[in-house]
Parts: sequence; structure tokens; C-alpha cells
Amino acid sequence: MHKERGVLLVVSGPSGVGKGSVCAALIAMDEQTTYSVSATTRAPRRGEVDGVNYYYISAERFAAKIAAGDFLEYATVYGNYYGTPRAEVERLLAAGKNVILEIDTQGAMQVKAACPQGVLVFILPPSIEELRRRITARGSETPESLNLRLSRAEAEMAMAEQYDYRVVNSDIETAAAELLRIINEVKASRRKGSYDAE
Ligand code: 5GP
Repeated sequence: MHKERGVLLVVSGPSGVGKGSVCAALIAMDEQTTYSVSATTRAPRRGEVDGVNYYYISAERFAAKIAAGDFLEYATVYGNYYGTPRAEVERLLAAGKNVILEIDTQGAMQVKAACPQGVLVFILPPSIEELRRRITARGSETPESLNLRLSRAEAEMAMAEQYDYRVVNSDIETAAAELLRIINEVKASRRKGSYDAE
């Protein structure tokens, strides 16, 4: 039987907003939803695992993959390259999985242009003060990278208007449930659209 294609869900938001926790809660809630693992040239943080958090590759390999057209989108963030492997995303969607791309705003705009069926969700903090507190509490940044992330956060938030949906992360489980509701809404309207077309 033909399997219903999954939903491509692009999730962005400023550093420290809790995108990772919200996406992890969504995946725990719904076994049809999974991540696409990105490639990056940045070094692994403590506790991160190659092939799970990212594929950690050299700048040379990254450049070769760009040239080969292997990325659905890619961008430079904080001086490092990040990219979404095209083949993996396609395989998962065709298998009926909803695929989360947790990517920055530059990448999200590329996906919007390349895959109009992708759904873009921007995660907002309850306030800027709360965002500052969350980034500082994470403690994994040097003072330089903390300042870089904070100043970039405001610029990123100005992009929220370009997204299909905006979700405030006051509570992780509530925000994850909202993402699941969006996925189901998109599927329902897609089914309705194909009925209407018949
Ligand atoms: P981090 O270094 O904190 O893991 O990620 C830094 C930023 O890169 C985050 O905003 C994250 O969403 C973004 N990012 C991670 N993977 C990708 C990717 O494959 N493509 C793009 N465009 N951005 C990514």
C-alpha cells in the first residue's frame, strides 16, 4: 500500500530558546516523527555523539558535499558550516516519517524556496530576559560565544514573521504538543486538498 508521505517540519528559534528540548519531547510523544541529522564543521560539545547530534566533518569534506549537491540547504552559523543531507530527508519522508530540521533562519528560507510543502515553525522565548537566563544557565559557552549568540538572537527573532507558525516555549511539553497539533493539522488539510482535487 502507498504510504502517506511525512511532513517536513523546519524548526528555528534563537539559541537558548529550548528548540532541542521541545523537539526531543515531540519525538518522545510521536513515534512517526524523527530528526534529520545535520553535518557540521564545528567541534563536538561535551556529551555530543557523532552520527547522533551531528555528523562532524572537516571543512574540506563539507565543501566537496556542497559541490556534489548533497545538501538540501546549508549555512554558516557562528563561523562554522551546517547542512542538511538531502538523501536522508527524502528517504525518511518517503517512509512516512515526519522529519524535523532544527536549523537556523538562513537554512529555513532555503528550504522554503526548495520545498514549498515544508512547514516552518519559529520557537519564541517567553521574553528576552528569560532567553538570556537560559543561555547563561547552559554554561557551555565562552564569554565571546555567549555574546555572539545573544546579539544574534535578536536578529533571528525579527525573522519569526516569515514562518508559517510561531510557538512560545513557556513549557516544553506544551510547546511539543503544539508542534504535534501543527503536524496533524497539515496532514489533515493535505488529505482534504487531495480529496478536493479528485
Ligand atoms: P549549535 O552549534 O548550537 O548546535 O547550532 C547552532 C545553530 O545552527 C542553531 O541555530 C541550529 O539550529 C543551526 N543548525 C544546526 N544544524 C543546521 C543545519 O543543518 N542547517 C542550518 N542551516 N542550520 C543548522
